Amino acid sequence: MGTVAEHLHAAEERGLAEICFTEHLDFYPSADGLFFSTIPTEGRLLAYLEEVREAQQHARIVVRAGLEVDYKPEAERWVGELLNRVGFDFLLGSVHNVGTWPVSGPAELALAYFQEKGAEQGCLDYLEIVERAVAADLFDSVAHLDLMKRFRPENGELMKRGRLRDQIVAILDVMAANGTGIEVNAAGLVHDPREAYPSLYLLKLARDRGVEVLTVGSDSHQPETIGRNLEAALSLARTAGFAHVYTFDQRALTPHPL
Ligand SMILES: [Zn+2]
Repeated sequence: MGTVAEHLHAAEERGLAEICFTEHLDFYPSADGLFFSTIPTEGRLLAYLEEVREAQQHARIVVRAGLEVDYKPEAERWVGELLNRVGFDFLLGSVHNVGTWPVSGPAELALAYFQEKGAEQGCLDYLEIVERAVAADLFDSVAHLDLMKRFRPENGELMKRGRLRDQIVAILDVMAANGTGIEVNAAGLVHDPREAYPSLYLLKLARDRGVEVLTVGSDSHQPETIGRNLEAALSLARTAGFAHVYTFDQRALTPHPL
């Protein structure tokens, strides 16, 4: 919520050097079982891009236009073609739904999903879609890798062992091989898990498996919380062994020492 100008103003007030907007490109499951009921049109995406480019003209800080793309296997080709036509600076890949289950919220539905599938299987099904997202090689960075702990913090522990850890290692190996980055998302610090997405454990694992590129985001969704806990996210990345945080301009990356 809030306009581009309001977010930019808040970022300047907070003393940030740069802001990259990552508006959502979402696919919400709908009650009638049709998946793609609320895709923003290409016209809307172009208008958003134009609004951010325009904001740069009057800004005191660097302003970039990104997109958080909700990955759905069924829409992979459509999204790939769209992203080729519309030139964003940064593409953040994410998974919010498993089939018709909206697992990133609302909480009742996310919890019903785990009730139906079981915690471990529910996490595994989610992570298998993340692996496909990463293998599609469309994105610069992967958002909130262990989001499955959001409404069920115990899942955070499950992901540190057994089949779920193996699945995460498989994802990280693809990321290391194709150069996809990992996002430290600070919103988890104010959600129930009270730790960033992903956990320090998984960030260290990412580093061990050879993931080099790291990005940070506050996932704030409103001007009042722009940049919230970014220092904590950067410090976590440093502790995990990352040497740089990266920013993007027309998909080209720049490292900044941590
Ligand atoms: Zn997200």
